[in-house]
Amino acid sequence: MILCKTCCMPNTRPDTPFIDGECAACVNHRNRPTIDWDSRKAELMQLLDRHDGRCIVPSSGGKDSTYQVMTLLGLGADVTIVTARTCHLTSIGRANIDNLARHARTVEVLPNRTVRAKLNRLSLELVGDISWPEHCAIFTTPFNVAAELGIPLIFYGENPQNQWGGPVGSEEARQMTLRWRSEFGGFLGLRPGDFVGMEGITDRDMADYIIHNPTYPVEAHFLGQYVSWDSRRNFEVAMDAGMKVLLNQPPTRANFWSFENLDNAQTGIHDYFMYLKYGFGRGCQQISLDVRGGLFERDYAIQWVEQNDGAFPMDYMGISIYEVLDRIGMEPKKFYQLSDQYRNAAVHAH
Ligand SMILES: [Zn+2]
Repeated sequence: MILCKTCCMPNTRPDTPFIDGECAACVNHRNRPTIDWDSRKAELMQLLDRHDGRCIVPSSGGKDSTYQVMTLLGLGADVTIVTARTCHLTSIGRANIDNLARHARTVEVLPNRTVRAKLNRLSLELVGDISWPEHCAIFTTPFNVAAELGIPLIFYGENPQNQWGGPVGSEEARQMTLRWRSEFGGFLGLRPGDFVGMEGITDRDMADYIIHNPTYPVEAHFLGQYVSWDSRRNFEVAMDAGMKVLLNQPPTRANFWSFENLDNAQTGIHDYFMYLKYGFGRGCQQISLDVRGGLFERDYAIQWVEQNDGAFPMDYMGISIYEVLDRIGMEPKKFYQLSDQYRNAAVHAH
């Protein structure tokens, strides 16, 4: 495992090229000042004008979606917030969804929770990712609501490949196409139809995870390609709009930031399995972004990563891992077996 020479991301991250010892996210970050943001904003205004200002913002109520909503409202847009309910909603997550609903109309979609719990458990077993149904819903529910309400313009937040690194060229994408969705949506080769027949799951159950009308002409854009994107600045704007955090503490020791991923108690398990499989956790990604932004020295970041990254998520947002496992019907013993199964010996050799 080789660390980027500028931040502390390892070269074991999937689809992230290293160029002269530097990760794609660092290369993108350095290239950003060359973007002409005034002309990007003009393009954004034209896009809104073409749709009479009507648009959808997929939202968890977190810092980025709150920033998206406030920014678009500031530009005069008629925003409809679409929240695909997360898997194990925390009280702060609930409060932040309700807070954002003070600013714009909100459609909250709650799929069958019994089915969701089965999907969480099955996807953790099958592909080592408890969050498969959540990611699927995030990239599906807004498209379905867009078609139902007749609002064909969607603004997702950042282009993740630009912010966090990805294959060469993918950082330039302005739009989330259906091809992008299948390539980067985090489906890990699992399709909704694969679950039908498992533990009594039916086609009708999986309809919440499928785009109902793929020919409806939705345009889904990344707002972060039209206005500059900065996680800490987004958080400040979100705080001004009433967003809450957990007493300035990160959700768990393995996180560096206190202001991200506050809404789902399962996120600790998601991030822990990412660490087991690829050798880096969410904290490593967060502090690497801060190193790029000049907030922390690389030496400090590497030390923090060594001490905290991948720490076992005994609690997340104050919720015990045993409560999370109980809700999805998984015995702790089974969870520890899966942890061993998904631990990649090659990246955890030293
Ligand atoms: Zn880097």
